[in-house]
Amino acid sequence: MSATCRREPVILSPSTSLRTGSVEGFIAHFDVDAFYASVAVRDNPELRGKPIAVAGSSRRAVVLTASYEARPFGVRSAIPLYKARMACPELIVVPPDMQKYRSISHEIFDIFRKDARAVEGLSMDEAFIAVGVSTLDEARAFAAAIRREVFEATRLTVSAGVATAKMVAKIASDSCKPDGLLAVAPGEEAAFLAPMPVSRLWGIGPKTQTRLSVFGITTIGELAALDDTQLRELFGSWFHEVRDLARGVDSRRVEPERETKSISTEETFEYDVRDETRLIDLLRIQAKELAENLTLEGSSAQTVAVKIKRADFTIVSRQTHLAEPTRDARRIFRAAVYCLRRVALEGAPVRLLGTRVASLTEGDALQTSLF
Ligand SMILES: [Mg+2]
Repeated sequence: MSATCRREPVILSPSTSLRTGSVEGFIAHFDVDAFYASVAVRDNPELRGKPIAVAGSSRRAVVLTASYEARPFGVRSAIPLYKARMACPELIVVPPDMQKYRSISHEIFDIFRKDARAVEGLSMDEAFIAVGVSTLDEARAFAAAIRREVFEATRLTVSAGVATAKMVAKIASDSCKPDGLLAVAPGEEAAFLAPMPVSRLWGIGPKTQTRLSVFGITTIGELAALDDTQLRELFGSWFHEVRDLARGVDSRRVEPERETKSISTEETFEYDVRDETRLIDLLRIQAKELAENLTLEGSSAQTVAVKIKRADFTIVSRQTHLAEPTRDARRIFRAAVYCLRRVALEGAPVRLLGTRVASLTEGDALQTSLF
């Protein structure tokens, strides 16, 4: 079985909250390079320089993270492990160690959050930080200092992008990986983005990409050069957002409260499961894992959701809201069973089962409810 536990990333597609206008200060984006794979190499130096993939051991395991040495073979996250092995026969497969990743993640976020900085976590190893300085040089020095501190504490390299806009900062850190730092000067955003493929823009999925390619538009620069009439034809009511993003204008601020919006865990079964008892057993284990995570985070959840992928790959999910936030495994379990029973499975084979807790609040709400 392959197991993953992750924090839900924030919604990165253009939203109605997007505003245009002046920019206040710089935003830095940090992302650990090949996080799981780098941890494996750090703790087993014999793996250094070799193509490795972190993955579970089931028939249906997918690559969670690939080392940079494995990537030229086409091995990357989310591809099935058997395909990765075919593409790279030398591939060394390392099992994941979620507990270890979580504890390293806490260490890294402690560094990010120092001096009461505004930090928006996107995943265990990735975050935006609002940089409270006014010049590009200062912002670059800030990012360099964080990179150094994380490396000294964890022996892991983190790449950083600095820009006036969130999306530009993220694209900058992605494009200087691994172990890089790239700062985009104010006013240079559009020029920096211009040669990149349109797929790098938030909200441009494969469908839109295909539609754009019909019009001969493959780069962000080509998209940015369209006039409003053409953009409106292509994107309808959200053409403003697309236009601004393509020009590197994105005035969304770093939003610390969005960090850890939800925590989820899921399992893909080696063989499809029809037996409800087995599904319920798994929900009990998942509820316990989530309760432990909430305790670790110092938070409680008020929403519990269950996701089911059937053998025919259709996905169905049900969620329920609790009367009060909890981090109690039994309460989460009961809510998850309630959700499961609301899905009329009728013995249909299940391929994947997951539980998610959301509507997180700080603190132990159980305790306050006693008074
Ligand atoms: Mg990363």
